[in-house]
Amino acid sequence: MRKPLMAGNWKMYKTAGETKSFFEKFLPLVAVATHADVVICPPFVNIPAAVEATETSRVEIGAQNLYWKNEGAYTGEVSGPMIFAAGARWVIIGHSERRQYFQETDATVFQRTQAALACGLNPIVCVGETLAEREAGATEQVLKTQFEVGLGSLAPEQFAKITIAYEPVWAIGTGKTATPETAAEAHRFLRGLISAKFGHPQAVQTRILYGGSVKPENIKGLMAQPEIDGALVGGASLDADSFSAIVNF
Ligand code: PEP
Repeated sequence: MRKPLMAGNWKMYKTAGETKSFFEKFLPLVAVATHADVVICPPFVNIPAAVEATETSRVEIGAQNLYWKNEGAYTGEVSGPMIFAAGARWVIIGHSERRQYFQETDATVFQRTQAALACGLNPIVCVGETLAEREAGATEQVLKTQFEVGLGSLAPEQFAKITIAYEPVWAIGTGKTATPETAAEAHRFLRGLISAKFGHPQAVQTRILYGGSVKPENIKGLMAQPEIDGALVGGASLDADSFSAIVNF
């Protein structure tokens, strides 16, 4: 049985003070939510504030990216061991905004994923098609390539630690959510890829989150799909009331 995971991606929002205020309001609202794992991914600089604020709670903290070298002359980058030492235990990898604005590729997704696993971080690896790709009927081919190049060469024991987030690019920050059926169809396809590569027992265990304009109003319908194991939430995770409503779906 896969336990739901609700992860918030704060993108480039909130200061350390705003991070602290968020958790003061949010933690009491999810105090009894043991049915789901909860992760918040603030900007790098606010990881320590978030870790401190959540120390006595079940909420865990993640980063939004990492570089694959442990240290060196890579100005502006942050490594996995630094993220882990700051107290985060999760990391988002290959978000479509990273692919779109920072030239990340499936090949660098693989490098980042390996680096995250090597230092004990739990990767949430994002895949998903653009609107043009969906309209061209290429959704499955895009997901297959992202899966095979980004994750397919992991060792089975490495893959066992992966969470996948299916995030159709056309649904991120646009207010357009995939219908629960459309999302579930993509999740089923991804689960088939996992089964073919890593075996059926692994496919049954891997959590696949949906991401793309998830809100309190649509989370129930999405979570009613047995294929959907939780959500990666951008905009609606910035507000304690709306993200707690999603967690407590
Ligand atoms: C995201 O940032 O991963 C995301 C899905 O954003 P939003 O919920 O705002 O669409």
